[in-house]
Amino acid sequence: NQLNFSGGPGALPETVLQQLHTAMLCVPEVGLSILGISHRSEWFAQVVHELEDNIRQLMGLPATTRVLMMQGGATQQFSMLPMNLLRNGQSADYIHSGYWSGKAIHEAEKSGKLQLAWSGKADQFGRLPTDAELQLSTDAAYFHYISNETVEGLQFHRVPGREDVPRICDMSSDLLSAPGEFNRYAMIYAHAQKNIGPAGVTLVILRDDFMHSLPSDLPGFINYHAQADAHSIYNTPPVFAIYSVLLVTRWLRDEIGGLHTIAVRNQAKADCLYQVLDDHADFYRGRAAVADRSKMNVVFNLPSTEIEQAFLQQAREAGFSGLNGHRSIGGIRASIYNGLEFAATEQLAAFMQVFRKSYQP
Ligand code: PLP
Repeated sequence: NQLNFSGGPGALPETVLQQLHTAMLCVPEVGLSILGISHRSEWFAQVVHELEDNIRQLMGLPATTRVLMMQGGATQQFSMLPMNLLRNGQSADYIHSGYWSGKAIHEAEKSGKLQLAWSGKADQFGRLPTDAELQLSTDAAYFHYISNETVEGLQFHRVPGREDVPRICDMSSDLLSAPGEFNRYAMIYAHAQKNIGPAGVTLVILRDDFMHSLPSDLPGFINYHAQADAHSIYNTPPVFAIYSVLLVTRWLRDEIGGLHTIAVRNQAKADCLYQVLDDHADFYRGRAAVADRSKMNVVFNLPSTEIEQAFLQQAREAGFSGLNGHRSIGGIRASIYNGLEFAATEQLAAFMQVFRKSYQP
């Protein structure tokens, strides 16, 4: 088997894969394959119920917070959000810190006015803003940013934004990878396929007071009230993906021991790879400013594209999958999501040492 360093969908824990294997054939309590269980069954209602509880427990959210499982990925969220919130002519603040926040801005502009709180474009998205650099409006409908720019490997290690403007964050590539001050957000969304499960489901977490401010007359599929009232079963949901996410939350809670413990493990994985970059900075050229380095996506370049191609080919042959950088910027990206074991990063670090020596004997 290859070690999965892909930017997403990413590696899932071995024990979860084994449980899914069993469920594919038969979920014992039901007597059916997970692929054929009705979303209207009592069993699935329990799955959704427990998953909502597990998310609240892991993230330390109050019972009043809505936890939704929706379809359409993160793209659906950053598209429907402005459709919900910019209808009355208000404007929203956005940070442009990389590829995915650029996509979110592009979609939001179709629904209303935006104010750019900061852009990293002039620095080729090599760093994140300081608080002093952010230009934040006091009357914005909301403030949107991405906690971890998956493509560039930039991660906020603090919570930016004002407390008196609803803060909305795309946490697709770092939710459930570490604890956080989640109650400071009006809304959080994250697709599953990085740290939480397979593609097909997106977690949407809404604070009650913010939920009340959302319109209720939009078509059901883009209407948060309709989705919340239906407890994530507005239409046929992705039963398999939602069940997989439930298993990941059980694994995080029972086997790992919560977000503090997974954060320690994720930090160790990131340290292991960044150490190689720091020790050989003339060869492994890290893309992100040191203070803004992502603990999920380690992005770097090599002295030439030929050497990068050789690296990728030899890495593939040595059993490392998915190390190619995003198609928009190339280079190398090692994604080290929750499901990846620490030993895998040790093996990659060892490979990087050997590879470098073949060019710098
Ligand atoms: N936001 C972030 C941070 C991402 O990394 C991605 C994709 O990788 C997206 C949004 C788009 O997600 P989706 O394909 O689920 O629409």
